[in-house]
Amino acid sequence: MKAGQKTITLKKRPRGAYVAPTDCPACDAENAFETKRKNGAGMLRGESLPITYECQVCKHCGFSLLTVPQMGERIRLAVEAYQKKHNLLTAAETRRRRLALGYETQQELSDAAPNIAIATLKRLEAGQRVQDVAIDRLLRDELRQLEEKQKRKLVQKFLQKTKWSLTHGAMTLNTNTISYTRWNAAKNPTPVEAGATC
Ligand SMILES: [Zn+2]
Repeated sequence: MKAGQKTITLKKRPRGAYVAPTDCPACDAENAFETKRKNGAGMLRGESLPITYECQVCKHCGFSLLTVPQMGERIRLAVEAYQKKHNLLTAAETRRRRLALGYETQQELSDAAPNIAIATLKRLEAGQRVQDVAIDRLLRDELRQLEEKQKRKLVQKFLQKTKWSLTHGAMTLNTNTISYTRWNAAKNPTPVEAGATC
């Protein structure tokens, strides 16, 4: 830093936790809101999708509003309704299949399937946007391939285990047969064996 140069520190915008409004802007009542479930429609790509969502309703005048988290949830519900209607992968299904494949993180799945970009996976599992049909097909193909691979591995593992127990069982059986033969031979020596020991 040159002499005489000043260090300018930019003031940071205060970042507190989000606080939902408590006073009604319509009738000025304090602590006016209660959470209620409403049946309504979410608009997405020109389609009206029936959804049941939560919102804040004023106890005094009936004025309603959505808090920031409720807005996010309303979008998520509309996205999910659209995906179900159009037979696209939902956020929940993608997450469920990822975890069933044994991938704890989105990064792990993206590493296993290089055609699935981590950004795509993050967006889809966040459930705030509908994926393109091409992306959906690609993702389904990759998931199906990984699931088939997993199934083959499980079958192989099962067969190996079965083979081992069969071998193990056969060995036990063999040992028993040998002991029985020896015991039987000692008790009732056959003429050949009797001759051999005499
Ligand atoms: Zn009010």
